[in-house]
Formats: sequence, C-alpha cells, structure tokens
Amino acid sequence: MDFSDTREEAAFRAEARAWIQANAPTYLKPYLERSGFGSTNTGEYDTMAEAKQWQAKKAEAGWACLAWPKEYGGRGASPIEGVIWGQEEGVYGKLSGAFIIGHGMCGPTLMAYATEEQKEQYLPRLASGEEIWCQLFSEPHGGSDLAGLRTRAERDGDDWVINGQKIWTSGAQHSDYGILITRTDPTVAKHKGLTMFFLDMRSAGVDIRPIKQANGQSEFNEVYFDDVRIPDSQRLGEVGDGWRVSLTTLMNERLAIGGGIATGYPDLEELVRALPLGNGVALDNPAVRTKLADWHCKASGLRNTASRLITALSKGDTPGPEASIGKLVAGTMMQDIAKFALDLQGLGGVVVDPAVAEGSARFQAMLLRSPAVRIEGGTDQILRNIIGERVLGLPGDMRADKGIPFNEIPKGESR
Ligand SMILES: Cc1cc2nc3c(=O)[nH]c(=O)nc-3n(C[C@H](O)[C@H](O)[C@H](O)COP(=O)(O)OP(=O)(O)OC[C@H]3O[C@@H](n4cnc5c(N)ncnc54)[C@H](O)[C@@H]3O)c2cc1C
Repeated sequence: MDFSDTREEAAFRAEARAWIQANAPTYLKPYLERSGFGSTNTGEYDTMAEAKQWQAKKAEAGWACLAWPKEYGGRGASPIEGVIWGQEEGVYGKLSGAFIIGHGMCGPTLMAYATEEQKEQYLPRLASGEEIWCQLFSEPHGGSDLAGLRTRAERDGDDWVINGQKIWTSGAQHSDYGILITRTDPTVAKHKGLTMFFLDMRSAGVDIRPIKQANGQSEFNEVYFDDVRIPDSQRLGEVGDGWRVSLTTLMNERLAIGGGIATGYPDLEELVRALPLGNGVALDNPAVRTKLADWHCKASGLRNTASRLITALSKGDTPGPEASIGKLVAGTMMQDIAKFALDLQGLGGVVVDPAVAEGSARFQAMLLRSPAVRIEGGTDQILRNIIGERVLGLPGDMRADKGIPFNEIPKGESR
C-alpha cells in the first residue's frame, strides 16, 4: 500500500479542492462541523433542501456519483479518485446522508439489472439528488434471514400485485422510488422463490409510517403494501432470481457503509485534551492515556483495513470480507468510546443540548446512534458468521431450513 498521491491523483485532488473551495455552502460549515453520528445539523437551514442543492450543484459540474459512467450522471472516475473526493469534500459530505442508499445500493443494482432505457431515465435523476431511492428489504420476519421474507408478489396480466410489510426502511418517507424484494413462489426453497422490482413510492396502496427512535429522530419507517400494482417492466432480473439480484445490492451495501464508519477516536482525543479532570485535563490521567492508546491502535488498524479495501478496488478486484471487519470493529468501538466520554463528563454526560454540552453533545449523539451501527447492513453476529466462515474457514452456520420449500418450513405461533 502506498499512501501518497501519484502525479495524476495530486492533479485530481487539486482540481477537486479548487472546485469545493469555490462552490461549497460555507455558511453551513460551522453546523456541519458540530454534527455527526447520524444527525446532520444545518442550523436554521432546511437539511433536505440544502442536501439537494449541494448534490445538484455537484452533479451539474460532474462531481456526483464519481464512479458511475458519465451517461448515467457520474464522472467515470476511478475508486481512488472517489476516495480523494471524499477526503476533500470533508464536512460537506455529511449532506449526502439522504442519498447513500440510492447512490450506494439502488444505483448499482439498477446498473446491473435495469434496461438501458430505464438506466437513462432514472440514474441521472438519482445521481443529481432530484430523486431519492430507498431499499425495501427487511421485514418483521426477514432481517438477518432476508430470504425468509413474506411480502408476496402475484402476477396479474402485465402487472404484479404486492401485499405485505417491510420495516426499518431508511428514508422511505422522503423517497420517490424503492427497490423491493418479494416472494413470488412459496413452493420452492426460500432463496429460490424471490423476485426483485423497483416501484414508485407514491403508488396507490403504499402506506409509509415513520418509526420514532430513541434519539428523537425518525430515520426509518414501516412500509405497508395493500394490493400495490407494479408493472412487469419494473422487474429487476428474472422471476425467481431475486436472491441473486439482492446480493448485488448487499455487496454494494457493504462497500457503501463498511469502509469509513466514524469511531469517535480523533474526537475523543480532542475532548480529553480540553476536558478538566483533577488538577489538569483528562489527557494527564494515566488511565485515560491507556484507553486512548488502545483506541489509537484500533483506529490505525481500521484505517489500514480500509486502505486495503481501496487498494483492492483500485486494482479492479472485488473486495472480500474485509468490509465486514471494518464495520464490526468500528461499531463496537464507537459505542465504547461514547460511553467512556460520557463517564468522563460526569453529570455533564447527561446533557444533550449541543449548545451547552461538552463537545457539542457529539458523544451523546454517538451513544444513541451506535446500536444502530451494530445492526444496520448486517448485525455483529452475522458479520462474525461471515468472517468465521469466509475468512477463517470455520464450519458453516446451521441451516435447518435448507432446501425445504418455503411453505413447508415450520412456523411458530407468532409467525
Ligand atoms: C439504522 C438502520 C437502518 C436500516 N435501514 C434499512 C433499510 O433502509 N432497508 C432495509 O431493508 N433494512 C434496513 N435496516 C434493517 C436491517 O437490515 C436489519 O435490522 C438487520 O438486517 C437485522 O435484522 P433484524 O432487525 O430482523 O434482526 P434479526 O435478524 O431478527 O436478529 C435478531 C438478533 O439475532 C441475531 N441473529 C440472527 N440470525 C443469526 C445467526 N444466524 N447467527 C447468530 N445470530 C443471529 C442477530 O445478530 C440479532 O442480534 C436498517 C436497520 C437499522 C438499524
């Protein structure tokens, strides 16, 4: 791994930096610097409107969805250029939260399975932030075991009729479209009877109900389908091949959220340098220094693991399970650091108002957000299974329902 820019990369960085300096919404910088860990703060400005405006500006100048082909609203840039752009965009990248699922997962799935006409119609509007997309996968009975999902799609002429429920659908309330995985054949083994579609979220029969979270926000939703009609032309992949299509989405999900999760580490260092403790600051305390040293080592391990992923991408390889390692370690680390930072603050640790709390209440927000990091995009246990099976070569997880037709799998009373 060579961390220094090549001549071409340095030129790209300079171009990106100059454009950002000339165009970024600098009036938002003080708010964005203080926000993070799942809550983008734009002060008196409307976050979604600002996010859309920044995305549109980037798209117009060719700085949106850098790795996508130009004809679909991207730049045709290399993975390394994408990383350099992210480094240069810095805090303004926090405005991209509403687009992560669309850009990171739905776009690549459309690119792999939609018709040419559909790609030309939907991808540029997705890249520019004009339209937002969501991922309708998880259900009350199909989260980690996604293939156990129950939302049905039944053929009716040129349409499919959808009935069922999804849950934890991030951003559904702001979305124009969603990619939706359904069961089209319950008489075959669970992975084999699935089919993927994309749908207009304003279709008749779609009912979106936001879920209130512990941090007061409503990032995700329950989505109900009551005789929702989707034209067959909006099917992605073959009938019964939805599992394979979903793997494209899930692989891209791991890449989109696995590489650069915040851990709170440099933030903690900043906090302990200033936080009064005893006769000095927290950093003077040997116990605090020991903790800091541990997290410093972990943070550099994570950085190098992420660099290995980027190196694989830049060589045209498909990154393996290393993306799972990053998320597994970062999620727990974030939670531990947040707890420690709140303990250090004593009674001040319970103050959540950013205007008065230590460190603008970043660690309070981090503590409330961290359980979600350990669940979204694969829980800690599922990631451990992946690492155990695919990295360490341990025996596979027990799959008692393997090969059994879905409608013959015994179901408990509550199911
Ligand atoms: C912030 C956030 C955003 C999300 N956004 C979306 C979204 O936009 N779209 C979407 O479709 N979904 C979304 N999800 C849902 C997410 O994908 C699921 O929550 C996740 O896959 C876990 O599924 P589950 O909640 O059904 O838990 P379950 O699968 O029921 O798991 C419950 C517990 O059992 C453990 N477990 C399950 N199976 C095994 C096993 N084989 N071995 C060991 N332990 C196991 C799990 O680790 C967990 O601790 C989001 C979740 C969060 C937290």
